[in-house]
Amino acid sequence: MTGHLAVITGASSGIGYNLAKVFAENGFDLVIASAGERLDKAEVDFQAMGVQVKAVHADLATYDGVKFLWQQVEALGRPVDAICLNAGVGSGGLFVDTDLDAEINLVRLNVEGTLHLAKYAVKHMVAKGSGKILITASIVSEMVAPRELVYSASKAFDLAFAKGLRAELKDTGVTVTALQPGPTDTNFFDREGLHDTYAGTKGKKASEPYDVAQQGFKALMKGDDHVYVADLLTKVEGAVMGLVPDAVQAMMHDKQAKPLDESSS
Ligand code: NAP
Repeated sequence: MTGHLAVITGASSGIGYNLAKVFAENGFDLVIASAGERLDKAEVDFQAMGVQVKAVHADLATYDGVKFLWQQVEALGRPVDAICLNAGVGSGGLFVDTDLDAEINLVRLNVEGTLHLAKYAVKHMVAKGSGKILITASIVSEMVAPRELVYSASKAFDLAFAKGLRAELKDTGVTVTALQPGPTDTNFFDREGLHDTYAGTKGKKASEPYDVAQQGFKALMKGDDHVYVADLLTKVEGAVMGLVPDAVQAMMHDKQAKPLDESSS
């Protein structure tokens, strides 16, 4: 038990669940948040690891949901040492066909929810002169990504936001780290409707969310600016993608996000 406190959003499954697990393994008490019922099981799992856990059910795609989460954090009366702005959803398919309401919800969660919660966390951490902020962006934050274009644009926001915030906070004792996973074996692709694609792990080996979380935690604790996680291919793709022409990036991504039966025809 370190007496340290971490807040993790999207902690009911996937990368967020594993981030919370890694924080608990390192003795942090937790505030975990998500919108669905699976959060209750996560709460039980982490309590069994011997740390204090507060689970907050909140729809972080809404202004009131984010505000409620932060009120619950403040009610603990404890300093927040680390926060992972991780909750996020995707949307797969051609823009001409995809559902507008789902895409607006995506932008509200991935963009507005992230900046809203960051506003509270930054004010809190700057006032106390320390803190660590992890923002889950993606490898697609830096890609031309047909069939995932609203999602990739939201993750480009998250990455640009993380980079700019880091620069603004450089003399405050607060660090900002962007987590940039490649395809990771979570519920994400099912939710996005991309399960039956190369990227949706049918043809490509996806990273384990625990490995992503461990590498993210390490980078956050070191105060790194960003980390491509978790496998070697993601690290290489991240390092070279800026050199690849847009048209080639678009072709590569379209192939990965296209339904497998269309790819083979
Ligand atoms: P996941 O298993 O589907 O987890 C998403 C988490 O977000 C869940 O805990 C979910 O909880 C929560 N969430 C969804 N809508 C919410 C809402 N309106 N309010 C509050 N919480 C909400 O997917 P994941 O892969 O771990 O995704 C986590 C982050 O990683 C996302 O930001 C995603 O963009 C990013 N990422 C994923 C991959 C990948 O390949 N998997 C790659 C790069 C980046 P409930 O459903 O219980 O509400």
